Order: sequence, then C-alpha cells, then structure tokens
Amino acid sequence: MRKVPAIRIRQLVDAPPRAEGSFVLYWMTATRRLEWNFALDHALHLAKSLGKPLLIFEAVSVAYPWASDRHHQALLDGMGEHREALSHTSVAYYPYVERRRGSGRGLLSSLAASACFVVTDDSLVFLNGRLLQAAGRLEGVGVQAVDSCGLLPLRAAERTFTAAYHFRRFLHKSLPEHLGDAPSRAPLSQLDLLKLASLPEPILYRWSPASAAELESRYFVSTLPIDHSVAATSWVGGAAAGRAALNGFVRDRLPRYFEDRNHPDRDGASGLSPWLHYGHLSSHEVFQAVIDAEGWSPLRLSEKADGRRNGWWGMSEPAEAFLDQLITWRELGYGYSAHQPDGARYEALPEWARNTLEDHVADRREYTYSLGKFAGAETHDDLWNAAQRQLVQEGRIHNYLRMLWGKKILEWTEHPREALDVMIELNNRYAIDGRDPNSDSGIFWVMGRFDRGWPERPVFGKVRSMTSKSTRRKVDLEQYLAKWADRRPGAHAAYDPRGRP
Ligand SMILES: Cc1cc2nc3c(=O)[nH]c(=O)nc-3n(C[C@H](O)[C@H](O)[C@H](O)COP(=O)(O)OP(=O)(O)OC[C@H]3O[C@@H](n4cnc5c(N)ncnc54)[C@H](O)[C@@H]3O)c2cc1C
Repeated sequence: MRKVPAIRIRQLVDAPPRAEGSFVLYWMTATRRLEWNFALDHALHLAKSLGKPLLIFEAVSVAYPWASDRHHQALLDGMGEHREALSHTSVAYYPYVERRRGSGRGLLSSLAASACFVVTDDSLVFLNGRLLQAAGRLEGVGVQAVDSCGLLPLRAAERTFTAAYHFRRFLHKSLPEHLGDAPSRAPLSQLDLLKLASLPEPILYRWSPASAAELESRYFVSTLPIDHSVAATSWVGGAAAGRAALNGFVRDRLPRYFEDRNHPDRDGASGLSPWLHYGHLSSHEVFQAVIDAEGWSPLRLSEKADGRRNGWWGMSEPAEAFLDQLITWRELGYGYSAHQPDGARYEALPEWARNTLEDHVADRREYTYSLGKFAGAETHDDLWNAAQRQLVQEGRIHNYLRMLWGKKILEWTEHPREALDVMIELNNRYAIDGRDPNSDSGIFWVMGRFDRGWPERPVFGKVRSMTSKSTRRKVDLEQYLAKWADRRPGAHAAYDPRGRP
C-alpha cells in the first residue's frame, strides 16, 4: 500500500489514534471503489501501522434530493460488488441501506465510538460537504479526509479560475509534480492485516447491514421510499462495468475521439461520466489507460506552459483532446466547487454574465415553456425534444446536444433564474452523472461561467448562443433523431415534480 501525499490529507478532528479502539474505520462516501483510492490506501496504512483491523462503512440514505431508483441502483450496484470482493479479504465491510428516512441516524457515531481512527473521502460531490461536516463533529476520535478527486490535488490551487485557458496554464506548471503520485491499483492484494472478529451486537441489531441478496437484486430499490418514477436504466454501476467501458473506449474509440466526439451518430465519446461521478472509476485509472495506449512517459511533456489545448502532453491529437476534457474541464469544476461551496447559486454567475442576461430579461421570447413541458419533451423543437427524451429514458445526453439543450432552456424561459432552476432540476433528476461538480460547470457554462463575451444578441445578451439549425448542419444526427424523435404518446416518462412517492 502506498503512502498518501500529505497535500491530499485534511485533518477534520485533530486527535491521536485511540489505542483501545477495535479497528480503523473508513467511511466511504464519494470514492466508492476498492482500487485507485487514496483514502483506502491511507486507511490501510493506518490499520497496518497500528496493528488493527480495517472496517469499511458504506451507506446510502433515502433522504437525499432526487433520490430515485436510477441514482440508488447505481450506488447499490457498487455496494454489491464491494461486498463480494471484500468477503475474500481480511477487510471487514458494513454496507448499510436506509429502509426509511432517518433510520441510519446514529450509526456513524456508534461505529466511530469503537474505532481507533476514522478516515473519510474529501470530496464536494453533491452532499459530501454535509457528510464532511458530520465527520468533523465526531467526538473523541481522530478524523482525516482524503482527496482522491482528480490528478491535481484539490488543495494544489488556492483559488478558482475564470476560464479553462487560465486553469490549463496552471496545470501545465503544477501538474507534473503530482503525476507520479497515483493511488494503488490493487491495494487489497497480499494484505497482511488482522481480521475484525465481530462488531457490537447492539449496532448490528439496530442497523442491520444490507444482505448480499438485497444488494444483488434489482428489485430491492422498488421497496425503498424513494422516487420510483425515475427508473433505473440498463446502465450498470460499479468498478467492473466502468473498467470494461474504459477498456472498450480506449481500444475502439479513443483513436477517433477528436473527430467523432461531437457527433451523436458516431458514439465517439467515452461515456465514463456516471462511473466517475459515483467514484466507481478513478480519473487516475482512466489516465493510466490512456498513457498505456499511447506508450507515453513524462519525458514527452512540453516545457511550454502556455495554456494551449494541444501539444503540451506530447501525445496523439485524440488523446490530448480527451485528457483536456478529463483533466482540464473536469478538474476545473471540481476545484471550483472546493473553493466556492455556494457556486450553484444564481448569484455565483460572473458579474458580466448576470448583467448582460438581466439587461435582456424584457426581450421578447418567441417560445416559453414551463418545467412540466420541458420535462415532458413538449417543445416545438424536435431536436431538443429528442435530447430530453434520451435524458429521461437513458439518463444521459450526448455532450454536444447537452450544450444545445441548456442554451435553449435559457432562451425559452422568462428569466435566467428560472432557466437555472429548470436545468438543475432536469439534469439532476434524470442524468445518471447528475448532481456532480460537472453538472454545475455545464449548467453555469450555458449561462456564461468559464466562457467569454460574444457579440450581443436578443435574450442571451453577450452570453454565447446556439441554434438547433446550425447544430443540425454541423453534427451527424440522422440515426439519433430516428431513435429519439418519437412523438408517440408515452414515448417518455411522466414527470413527477414531487420527486418522491
Ligand atoms: C448543461 C450541461 C450539463 C452537464 N451536466 C453534467 C453532469 O451532470 N455530469 C457530468 O459529469 N458532466 C456534465 N456536463 C459535462 C459533459 O456534458 C459531460 O461530462 C460529458 O458529456 C460526459 O460524457 P462522456 O463521459 O462521454 O465524456 P467524454 O467526452 O468522454 O469526456 C471524458 C470525461 O471528461 C469529463 N468532461 C467531459 N466534458 C466535460 C465538460 N464539458 N465539463 C466538465 N467535465 C467534462 C467528464 O468527466 C467525462 O466523463 C454537462 C454539460 C452541460 C452543457
């Protein structure tokens, strides 16, 4: 197991390990994987050096916003996989699934009371900020949070960046010193750890762990008090499925990524964002797969830290284009959310963008739609409706169409605040990769964040606009439209604004 760089470890409760504790507790909240995980490396290192067993505690509550079969199933897929994998090791696993709101309350502090030290994930994905606060309130036990979010440690930059170009320049200067610090690929192989004999009976009795049968059954979600109107899709969560998708992408599509990624008919992008979102796949692992395919070494890095998109890595054009998304764009958003916890509020838009959008609030909109009409794909625009249907049914939208999708919501609502609410609601309810720092990056990009001013136009002001007509001209869409521009009644799921049954 590897020593974790100090810059990735944050002290939440400053206390030395408690000798009388029975185990090291790793509360897995965001980096939900058993490989390529700095927090797991750190917890294993502590357990080994203290001569204690390791207990991994992974839970899912039913009380989070947009809790639905779709989001829950993704988490349960990963937990089922962890249960099976850890049953063959000396690491103990406690998977807990709330059956009713609040039933998990008290479990973390009860486990922590028997622990000698607590490790958790340092991440700002979705509700993780609140989970970190909960970990920071634990009493009488030391707690550390470990950052596995990206290739650049969250704390390597002390500020946010207003554009990808500025962040890229920063990366060119700062990333090389961190590239050698990857988490272990297989930390659980050849483990030499004590095995936890048992957990206190009262804990197991009050908070019974999810069984293998529950975690493996796709029926289990239907028994939980969450929104069943957003169904699970055929997409499968967990590291095995994520790794298979990664290998398939690198083998078959990476060489064409530069030309094909923007064309819905060509299926040129990786499709990895949901696994990255749930922490089932690590950006370090994705990076490693790319450098293996390229036969790359850091000696090929350019010395010119000029913020340009191409040429810095010394890789092929498609590999550089892909890494620009995976590292520059993804980590721009992660860094932003780490430094701006309120970044998902309308007021967090750059001033120029807010001013120009508000200058045009009174402009005549040719069409406006309610949230329900948007959700039901009931606009006048076949292409927009097709993208919305894909979102509702498959839980994803092709990236190019996702930009158009957002730009049209901005155009077809009365006020940019309303546009923001509609985008957040639809993206986070239906997209499997939703509720992520990238959700905020994408949605706020639609409204001007990380972008520059463009020639002024009605409704958009100086914020970049997009049209369905030019999209139809620029990208291959024939098969996409044949599949998704289906106007039959019932071709899309009904929208349930209450969000829970
Ligand atoms: C309105 C809107 C909403 C969005 N909501 C989300 C969201 O909820 N979750 C999400 O992960 N992404 C979101 N994005 C960004 C982008 O659409 C997706 O990351 C991308 O389409 C995922 O597909 P992929 O994995 O095939 O990407 P690839 O092209 O294969 O890229 C590889 C990885 O790079 C990252 N990436 C790619 N494009 C972007 C981008 N523009 N910004 C930040 N990171 C990027 C993702 O982690 C992605 O998996 C949104 C964009 C817009 C315009």
